[in-house]
Amino acid sequence: MADQQSVYNPLDEEHVEQVAGTKPRGLEKEIHEGALPPVGVLELNLERYVGDFNERIIGAYAAGTGERSLPADVGVARSLIPPGTGALRDFSYIAPEIPLFDHTKCVGCMSCVTECPDTAILGKAIPRSHLEAELNAVADPQERESIRAQWAVTRKYYEVFEKKGEEGALFGIFVDPTKCKGCAECVEVCDSLGYHALRMVKKDEQTIPRYRGWFNFFRQVGPTPRAYINERALADMMLSDDALLYVGGAGSCMGCGEATAIRMMLAATGFVHGAEAVGIVAATGCNTVYGSTYPYNPFLVPWTNSLFENAPAVAMGVRARWDQRGWQQKKLWVIGGDGAMYDIGFQALSRMMASGMDINVLILDTQVYSNTGGQASTATFTGQDAKMAVVGKAAPGKRERRKELALIAMMHPDTFVAQTTAAHINHFYRAIMAANEYPGPAVVSVYTTCEPEHGVADDRSSCQAKLAVDSRAFPLFAYDPRKGERIKERLSLAGNPAVNDDWYRLPNTGEVVDFIAFARTEGRFAKQFDVEGRPSETLLYAREERLQYWRRLQELAGIR
Ligand code: SF4
Ligand code: SF4
Repeated sequence: MADQQSVYNPLDEEHVEQVAGTKPRGLEKEIHEGALPPVGVLELNLERYVGDFNERIIGAYAAGTGERSLPADVGVARSLIPPGTGALRDFSYIAPEIPLFDHTKCVGCMSCVTECPDTAILGKAIPRSHLEAELNAVADPQERESIRAQWAVTRKYYEVFEKKGEEGALFGIFVDPTKCKGCAECVEVCDSLGYHALRMVKKDEQTIPRYRGWFNFFRQVGPTPRAYINERALADMMLSDDALLYVGGAGSCMGCGEATAIRMMLAATGFVHGAEAVGIVAATGCNTVYGSTYPYNPFLVPWTNSLFENAPAVAMGVRARWDQRGWQQKKLWVIGGDGAMYDIGFQALSRMMASGMDINVLILDTQVYSNTGGQASTATFTGQDAKMAVVGKAAPGKRERRKELALIAMMHPDTFVAQTTAAHINHFYRAIMAANEYPGPAVVSVYTTCEPEHGVADDRSSCQAKLAVDSRAFPLFAYDPRKGERIKERLSLAGNPAVNDDWYRLPNTGEVVDFIAFARTEGRFAKQFDVEGRPSETLLYAREERLQYWRRLQELAGIR
């Protein structure tokens, strides 16, 4: 205490003077005179600004001199970042490994392309004759053969077309070394499907130049002709440039589940409605930090960020103005995490849903305040070890039950609601497309793996999301008010395994996949198991709580 008293505090001195009457109360005001600059300085020529930004500003940041050398300008004053500047960011040297493609094993399923959070692995289907002509133009025979090895003959794009008497296309998978963060998510996804067409290899001195050469060829070979994009195979959407509206170069963590969900939402919206027909209002959270780290913007669509708590309210203003201008066909998405949507911005979300306005919401549910260091939110699972709900001798982790926001959303007037994950590619895409078609409020809540906060490896985003669904931790559902008057007509649990049962069992072993099986695979529940692997009382309670939630969904869907 004595030490604290001896700390100099200028306010104490000021207070003494104020009490003595030698100094007036209130802080002294600093007054600076200034004149408004000529009008021209405040004007922004957008075209010139974008060109200048991409060269001078990005150039200065790439050289590491941005903060020291760049003066403030009108664009910065208005918080403007031109679209797609993330494409100019170079992550070539942040990871020791990179995926290598084996064309003999690839079937062209596009799952790796869909699940990569960083738009770092892309696919194309190019008709054989066109591809041969492009390959023949490569002067160096060795390089030509190494590029040829990136192209696969698949049933889907080649044999099916040849059988119909049409020209088959070769399917190529290419990794952009400037965007790849080495998370190995693509490898894990391909392996889990049983194809094993990708593996991680160590980078050596030749790796980056070789991958750059391959990727340059991929860029110049032209787009996939529309005839080879099967609109019923939803994963094919990312063959189209219209679907690639998130260019990578964002500062998200390796393997981030949120970034994949955002890319896929944009893919389904852009592919169906056109790249010009999308806008985003983002609620503060991880997504706004990695999505707008100056000067890098991964979005090719209009994007704005206001506050943690008011993104749905901002969106209502944007929607109203768009409608005034006759832009009813444009799709407006609000993006926010569980902190923003379950907690801090819940009232604004509820108000938006009650308004009936045609606005879609993508909730990135990481079950924790990921951006501020992992504090518990109302989406946090019972028993989860999170800041503000730690597991220790005196406390068992999160005690409360999880709030089910998707269920609450269903009780708002005529609101479309889906609960899904990016690992369930068809379910996810159908939910996004239905939300876009629905002429009113739509909420798509997505389970998004947060590797650091969940305590899982960087390549586990998809498989943990699948396990969350299989174990009833986060069941899939779609609720469409157009399907009937009764809840059971509107609510579909299709996509969940063993939909009539309490728990799903592994087909080979018969082992029950319950919440404890899920919790056993994640660091955030590690302290809920003793040295022999027995679950705590809290975890047994959490298991029961998840089962009750699943049964409630079954009941609402008319299954129980
Ligand atoms: S996931 Fe595997 S099989 Fe599917 S497109 Fe990618 S590399 Fe080919
Ligand atoms: S390793 Fe990760 S970042 Fe790189 S291509 Fe695969 S999924 Fe994308």
